[in-house]
Amino acid sequence: MKPFGYARAVEADTAVATISNNQDTKFIAGGTNLLDLMKEEVEQPDKLIDINRLPLTKIEETSSGGVRIGAMVSNTHTANHPLIRQRYPVLSQAFLAGATQQLRNRATVGGNLMQRTRCYYFVNPIYPCNKRKPNSGCPAIEGYNRNHAILGTSEQCIAAHPSDMCVALAALDATVHLQGTNGTRTVPISEFHLLPEANPDVETVLQPDELITAVELPALFWAKRSHYLKVRDRTSYAFALVSVAAALDLDGDTIKDARIACGGIGTKPWRASEVESALIGQRANTETYQTAAEILVRDAKPQQHNAFKVELAKRTLIRALTEVATMDR
Ligand code: SF4
Repeated sequence: MKPFGYARAVEADTAVATISNNQDTKFIAGGTNLLDLMKEEVEQPDKLIDINRLPLTKIEETSSGGVRIGAMVSNTHTANHPLIRQRYPVLSQAFLAGATQQLRNRATVGGNLMQRTRCYYFVNPIYPCNKRKPNSGCPAIEGYNRNHAILGTSEQCIAAHPSDMCVALAALDATVHLQGTNGTRTVPISEFHLLPEANPDVETVLQPDELITAVELPALFWAKRSHYLKVRDRTSYAFALVSVAAALDLDGDTIKDARIACGGIGTKPWRASEVESALIGQRANTETYQTAAEILVRDAKPQQHNAFKVELAKRTLIRALTEVATMDR
């Protein structure tokens, strides 16, 4: 591991000022992803700014009836908070489906937004990788690509986004709060992560001098009828092959509104707006779900080893919708 400097910030203003004055500096919170990448020399910052003591540790109701989650709240605390469990079960379940208890205890909401792909080639510097080093190549396209994305891919990169939390946030239309040297701003979660296109090394709209301070969930009373379904190779400590975050607003057996996002199949957390449009106004039944499932994978571009994800995505969506529609709420 390359030697690096270390500083601790206790105020957001100081953290932002410090990072804006230092090149090749990164914030570290739980470190559950960053430290692994530093050990492999995939990440080689000159300096780390420890933000674990920033006062961004509250989960609180907003005046508009939503919930604001501080960036430093752990995944475990968020998953088990009564406001999240009762109003946004899809988010609580997404957290609990990720990693292990020990990792969830350390990992933070802000850090989860910045998780990097677990593409085999990206995490091993003996291989070229456009995401690690622009224009060096993408061995995954011709290589082993079982875990890779089928939606949102480019000729430069086909890596799947790894986060469970972000999939639930996408379905809930969350907003990311940022603080930089020029002040604060908010970004819809749908715009926070970028498609790889020609520049897979640029993964988010976060600027070098910006700090994630919070995630805000809008008031969505019917999100209590929601569910996160994750399909993976083993039942814990595994990334999604396919996951679905689903919420339905039902009037009898008619779907008044729907929120759908998917993980494991997209190069970013995949909000499925066209699937939602196909569900709204329809009867909540298998025929409707099957139509929606075909729309979900209509633009899929499977690779040699991940074509199974097309059928798996359809089945996972149908099962998630069936479970949400039959929930006792
Ligand atoms: Fe790198 Fe993306 Fe190709 Fe993986 S899929 S090797 S992350 S460019």
